[in-house]
Amino acid sequence: MNDCVFCKIGAGDIPSTMLHKDEDVYVIADINPKAPTHLLIIPLEHVGALTDDAPGRTAVLGRMVEVASEMAKQEGIASSGYRLIINQGPDSGQEVPHLHLHLLAGRRLGAMG
Ligand code: 5GP
Ligand code: ZN
Repeated sequence: MNDCVFCKIGAGDIPSTMLHKDEDVYVIADINPKAPTHLLIIPLEHVGALTDDAPGRTAVLGRMVEVASEMAKQEGIASSGYRLIINQGPDSGQEVPHLHLHLLAGRRLGAMG
């Protein structure tokens, strides 16, 4: 997608510090962190709405969770705990319409809401 910030970062058109990159996903620190550790696990391929039908979706989601788990170990927060969030659509407050998984950690995260 031409105008998508996460496609551009993934393609290297917008410079960023990648904490991880493989053939499926990359990981960056959120520009506006909501916790001491706030990472974004993002598929390289543009994936729009989570509820769209898309071939390979299950594999991509599985890989995102797997990489989140690897990042939790790498960041030393695997045992203290973390939260994974996917926002989808207006009521969730989603800002970037390219599928991504938030990894939040480093403080008591409080009740969901
Ligand atoms: P959403 O609300 O769509 O689930 O989350 C999008 C997240 O991406 C937000 O937490 C926002 O701070 C982050 N973000 C938006 N643009 C950029 C960017 O250019 N670089 C980085 N590192 N994070 C971004
Ligand atoms: Zn995109």
